Amino acid sequence: MTPPPTLSCQQVVELVSDYLDGALDPSTATLVEEHLAQCPGCATYLEQMRQTIGLLGAVREDQLSEATRTGLMAAFRDLRPPRP
Ligand SMILES: [Zn+2]
Repeated sequence: MTPPPTLSCQQVVELVSDYLDGALDPSTATLVEEHLAQCPGCATYLEQMRQTIGLLGAVREDQLSEATRTGLMAAFRDLRPPRP
């Protein structure tokens, strides 16, 4: 009889950045979530990673000049398929 697959804290820590990126396959992401639900240490680590990424995202946002932002918006608009 084999025990259900579980992840060690080490594995979870290695997978967290991919998990936050949505880069894990669904079954691995489920294993990470199951571990996080039972392991306060890893849950805290995930929260810190999430905040760090949020801060980096805010910095990137601030560094965009108005012209760059306007250019990106125009580019995104052009990417959308025309309405029928
Ligand atoms: Zn853990």
